[in-house]
Amino acid sequence: SKTTIAVLHGGRSGEHEVSLRSAASIMDGLRDVGQYEVLPVFISREGIWTLEGVRVAILPEPGIGGLYVLEGEKAGEVIPVDVVFPVLHGTYGEDGTVQGLLELARIPYVGAGVPGSAIGMDKILMKAGLLAAGLPVGPYLWFTVADWEENKKQLLKQIEEELAFPCFVKPANLGSSVGISKAYDSAQLEKAINEALQYDRRVLVEKMLTGCEIECSVLGNDRPEASVPGEIIPCNDFYDYSAKYLDDNSGLEIPAKLAPETIKKVREMAVQTFIALDCAGLGRVDFFVDEKTGEMWIIEINTLPGFTSISMYPKLWEASGISFNELLQKLVKLALERFSQKE
Ligand code: ATP
Ligand code: MG
Ligand code: MG
Ligand code: MG
Repeated sequence: SKTTIAVLHGGRSGEHEVSLRSAASIMDGLRDVGQYEVLPVFISREGIWTLEGVRVAILPEPGIGGLYVLEGEKAGEVIPVDVVFPVLHGTYGEDGTVQGLLELARIPYVGAGVPGSAIGMDKILMKAGLLAAGLPVGPYLWFTVADWEENKKQLLKQIEEELAFPCFVKPANLGSSVGISKAYDSAQLEKAINEALQYDRRVLVEKMLTGCEIECSVLGNDRPEASVPGEIIPCNDFYDYSAKYLDDNSGLEIPAKLAPETIKKVREMAVQTFIALDCAGLGRVDFFVDEKTGEMWIIEINTLPGFTSISMYPKLWEASGISFNELLQKLVKLALERFSQKE
């Protein structure tokens, strides 16, 4: 019999649109494989879950084992689910919240568990975790909205002295570059911080890193493997939301043209990042690599990276010998494997 996979998509984050695109590709791929029954579960921007227009829910109670129908003829019935694929990017999806619900409901799911998802989404905690593991992170500062309101002048001065211009301002929890700005002077910095504070109570400011932007895909549970790395060539000043999804002029160089020893180091560090942050299933690690100085920094991991057929995550696996559909099969298998370890 077929394995039933509920594909969660949409969601309450600023990356709702991106999720719809990833999910369309993933659902096509899963259907192509033939051995799966796909249940498309749409989550509205308000957080309402529907399966083909009918409200459904996962209840935080073990033993129900599927989607509980909330309305209509089948109200009160349960549609069994074998695996959930949360194709959700950003808050309320990639950050451990949905993963926590699935843990309570005891339903296997693709990707990292609660701590890996939460730490991977929070750039402040993520950097702390990477530094604790001895992994390279560029200079940065972080503060809360309260710090900002009380010590604005002092913070602006400290940022300018310690990080210089231009610098990158980011909300702690988000993705797709939403809320991120590159600030070239003090006035832009202040504006950028206020902008980032629209998305989160905590903000970080990073020194601008040099070299090229490299990404590496990781796949596995306890023995994760890294793909060949790829390079991002953004069409804008940096890889902002429009360079990622709207302009269509950004380039991907796969594999990245780096020295063999640099490639080896990137792959090793991608795996170390994945393990240090307690990830599972999949993750895409973003780097800056400066071959002139020999320096290398990890900017972040994405525990549910963009996943259309032209996204970096599956493209890097394709270049490493794993097709899009094979990748999906491996992810489902990894989800079931991890679940059976916990039982
Ligand atoms: P994603 O869509 O990958 O989840 P994100 O919103 O989590 O993105 P980052 O990856 O942290 O954001 O940053 C977005 C982009 O900004 C990077 O891809 C890069 O182009 C640029 N960038 C971020 N931090 C730095 C830095 N310290 N130095 C130089 N460029 C940076
Ligand atoms: Mg990210
Ligand atoms: Mg992301
Ligand atoms: Mg990124």
